[in-house]
Formats: sequence, structure tokens, C-alpha cells
Amino acid sequence: MIVGTIHKITGPVVVAKSMLGAKMYDVVRVGEQGLMGEVIRLEGDNATIQVYEDTSGLKVGDRVESTEGPLMVELGPGLLSSIYDGVQRPLPVIAEQSGAFIERGTVASALNRSVMWHFTPTVELGQDVVPGDVIGTTPEGRSIIHRVMVPPKTKGKIASVISEGDYTVDQVVATLEDGTEIKMSQWWPVRQGRPYVRKLDPTHPFTTGMRILDTFFPIALGGNAIIPGGFGTGKTVTQQSLAKWADVDIIVYVGCGERGNEMTEVLTEFPELVDPRTDAPLMDRTVLVANTSNMPVAAREASIYVGATLAEFYRDMGYNVAMMADSTSRWGEALREVSGRLEEMPGEEGYPAYLATRLAAFYERSGRVRPLGSDDRIGSVTMVGAVSPAGGDMSEPMTQNSLRVTGAFWALDTSLAHRRHFPAISWTKSYTLYSAQIRGWYEQNVAHDWQETRDRAMFILQKETELQEIVQLVGPDALPESEKVVLEVARMLREDFLQQFAFDDVDAYCPPKKAYLMLKVIMSFYDAAAGALNRGVSLHQVLEMPHKDRIAGMKTTQHEEAIETLPAFANELAEEIAGIEVY
Ligand code: ADP
Ligand code: MG
Repeated sequence: MIVGTIHKITGPVVVAKSMLGAKMYDVVRVGEQGLMGEVIRLEGDNATIQVYEDTSGLKVGDRVESTEGPLMVELGPGLLSSIYDGVQRPLPVIAEQSGAFIERGTVASALNRSVMWHFTPTVELGQDVVPGDVIGTTPEGRSIIHRVMVPPKTKGKIASVISEGDYTVDQVVATLEDGTEIKMSQWWPVRQGRPYVRKLDPTHPFTTGMRILDTFFPIALGGNAIIPGGFGTGKTVTQQSLAKWADVDIIVYVGCGERGNEMTEVLTEFPELVDPRTDAPLMDRTVLVANTSNMPVAAREASIYVGATLAEFYRDMGYNVAMMADSTSRWGEALREVSGRLEEMPGEEGYPAYLATRLAAFYERSGRVRPLGSDDRIGSVTMVGAVSPAGGDMSEPMTQNSLRVTGAFWALDTSLAHRRHFPAISWTKSYTLYSAQIRGWYEQNVAHDWQETRDRAMFILQKETELQEIVQLVGPDALPESEKVVLEVARMLREDFLQQFAFDDVDAYCPPKKAYLMLKVIMSFYDAAAGALNRGVSLHQVLEMPHKDRIAGMKTTQHEEAIETLPAFANELAEEIAGIEVY
């Protein structure tokens, strides 16, 4: 047993002496209450520990005991619908505003030990199994089949397997010939990515139901994106909208609160969200990891890794998982604070020099993979991290270092938010690196001219930005009609296509096919209008046509109806404008 004593305390960082034998990232119990911490530096027999709980009351001389193992999470049925703190202790479902606090030093089981799960074996006696093989299944919630897998590094012949029935997570469901017992639950160290056979090309889109993202800045399943934005620009609304609508099986939502009461809001609101596809609670396919405000900064780091591990576990079962982290800046600040207390050489703006490598290693855990196991299932973890640069200044280190290691940048724009253009995602600053890889999917599944249509629309939006500069100098009247029509169409694109109200019954979600058809209508208007102007028709005549309201009404038209009627509408519109007589 490695037992030392506290030598020094600085905020969440504690130095303990006589810790000879302790290893980096070993979990330790600190003080009489047994506060949980992790070894982050070793010098001689001194261990520096970041403590995940409030350190007030700790004294020099207090006992520190190493558990001699890294921070682990327990993986098994019952994770879905759970709400955990940063070290996977279940938070009692928060009933009151105040929020229920966990007593410091509490050791609590992540999985409920008494719930009975209906287990159906899928292996036979004498069968050879390798890591990742599914030995049985149990329904978890209403929509997910939980696959009980042979843990990594475990293989052999099945010597016994339990018959179908109801068991707890502690039940041994199978044994191997060498005596290895396999239960419905397993443990995994959070800082280590779970192994898989290989990463696959990101060729399938992560469809979000948000027009601006699916059309202009799509990412792939297994890809990653950041949402940087100043306070109040829509990071949380966007993340929650993705949680509700993204076309994935499982959601892992990691909340590091921006404001004091924000986590309480998430904790009270999330359990009320309804899964729009099944009408069941969204929590049925969600795990929530929440850093409550009574946990010190160091726990934010643990919560990020706990979230990634939970996501990988369901990926390994063959599911598409989306992990949201809101906001990763709070994690970055924790790294900065701990690094400062360690008196490390600071990098940019006081962040540690290893910020970039930490971020890279974290986002590297996303991916579409062929998990371990002898069947050919495929799973993915898509990661979307919010970033909150102070004052919306995107040149700060968290934003810059995150954008270097992620595939898409969904930049929230304060001026759009002020104008109440929502989602306030900038079409001039955002980008995605996945376009080329998922274009094929859209062209096959949505429309053969999907890419062409979106490119033309984007061109008009970019042209508008240029023209606006001219308009500011010389006024709109100086522009020729061929450019005034660009401004008019750009306005339609902004108001009738890009703007999407997250709280509208219909428009909260837009299927990619409908988004494409809406774009087609607007582009068909543009083509017809440009043609009419060429014939000598005035822009005024074109704009007098009674189509505008119908264009504005597309987004709130029921999806099936829109998909059925918009192609004809695009044609009617073109014909009507072609029929305008010159006078
Ligand atoms: P942040 O997390 O960036 O501080 P929020 O996500 O809390 O900001 O958004 C702030 C407010 O902006 C919301 O309360 C809402 O009124 C508005 N908002 C943001 N995005 C949308 C959207 N897509 N549709 C409608 N309103 C939105
Ligand atoms: Mg927020």
C-alpha cells in the first residue's frame, strides 16, 4: 500500500510526500474524507495530485493513499439515461433549483447494482471468442440493444454461459476455459482510447437537420467540429439541437457550465427533452456528464475523458455516437489553472505548452471505426466541442489550437446573434474539411446536382458580402440590376434558408432533401430573374410577383408536403417569371 502525507496544498493541487512507488495518473484518496485525485507529477518521493473535489479543510500532514490504478469508468447496461459527475458518480436527479450536491469523498457505483437486465446469450459452449465478440444482448431503454462484449485483451473458449434470463450487472454471464469470468459490465481507464481494428474513411455524413450545417458545412460521421462563439451566440442551443436531431443512435453530453446555474438548467431540462423520432425521453439514448459548480476545475478534465470513454464503448457495440462538450474552454481553463499552480513554463496566454497535444489527443478519439470483434459491425464517435472565446475573439489559444486538430469550424457570429439571425453560424468564417469525402453520399442520396446547387448558393452569399462593401460606399442605387438581384437572392438565402428557429415545431429539424429543394427553389428564382433582366424586364417587375411569401413559407411547410411540392413550385416560379412581359 502506498500511503503518504500532505506536504503542500494550493487550491486543487496537493503535493504529498512519501509516495514512493506511485505512478503517473494513479488515482489517490486525499485526507480524512478520501477526496478523489489523480497523480499528475512525480519528483523523488513527492507526488503532485490534482484533486477532483473541493480541497477546503485539508491539512498538511493529512493522509494520502494511492489506489494504485488509473481513473477508470465502469461500462455496462444502465449508462444510458444516467447523469454523472466528472468522475462517473451518479448525480441524484436534480429536483430542485439548488441542485443536489454529492458529499465530498463519496464513493458511488456508476451502475445500479440491483436492476435486472434481460440477458440473451449469443454464444455457445466451446465457441472461440476474441476481444469485442458479442456474447449476449440486453435491451437498454426502449431503442437500444446493449451488446455485452468480450473485453479487450480477453480471449479463449467459452466454458460456460448463462441461459436467457434476468440478471444484475454483477452476474457472471460467461466463463472462458482459463477461468476468466465475463460480466455484463467491464472497466476501462479513461485516459486511454479503447482499441479498435481500424479507422474507416469518413464518407457518411453526420446529418444534423440544421440547413446551414448540412448544406454548407457538413461533417462526416466519426468527424469532429468546434462551435466557437461569444456569450449568448447559441453554442448551447446548437449543441442541444444536435443532441435532439442529429442522425445518430447515442448521445454523450458533457456539460462544463459557463454560468453558475447553467448546469442546473441542463440537468433539469435535459431529462424533459423528448426524442422527436420516438417520442420517448431523449435520455433513453443519452448519457449526461455534468460538472456541477461545486466541483473544482480539475474535475473538468476527468469529465472530458469520461465522456470520450462512454462514447467509445457504444461505438464498440456498433452504434453511431455523438459526443457534445459544452464548453471545452472550461476544460482549457482548468488546464491553465492547474499548470499555473504547478509553476510550469506558461505558453500562450498562460495556457500550458501541452494544450495543443491534449486537444489533439482528445479529438483523435473521434472516428468511424471497425470495432474489435469477429463480426463486421461499424461504429462511430462524432465529436462537437463548443469553445467560448472571451469577447468572441477567435484568435485566442483554445479556438486556434482546437481548429488545428478538428475538421470543421462552425463559427458563431456575435453580430448575427444581435440581429437575431439564428442559428448565428457565420457562412463567411465557417469551414469544413469533409466536403469532398461526403459529397458522393449527398449526390447519391439527395440529388445529383447537390454540390453544384450549394456551390452556386454559396457564391451568391459571398458575392453579397462584396457588394455590401460597395453599397456602403455609394449606396444601393449605384448597382446595376444584375447585382441588385444578387442582393435580393442573398437576402432570401439568409432569411428563408439559413435562418432556422430551433424552437419551431416544424423548422427545428430540416431533412437534407427538403433543404436541397428549398435551395433549388431560391436558385430557380435567381436563374429566372437573371434571365428576365436580360430580356429587359425590370427587377421591380420580378419582385412584384406574388411568390415571395411562398418562398418564405417553405421552412415551416411540413417536410413530406414540402418534399412533394417544392419541385413543382420551382418550375412554376421559373415559368411565371419567364412570362413577364417587357414594357
Ligand atoms: P451560448 O451557449 O453561446 O452562451 P445560448 O445557446 O444559450 O448561447 O443561446 C442564447 C440565446 O440565443 C438562446 O436563449 C436563444 O434565445 C437564442 N438562440 C440561439 N440559437 C438559436 C436558434 N437556433 N434558434 C432560436 N434561438 C436561438
Ligand atoms: Mg452556453
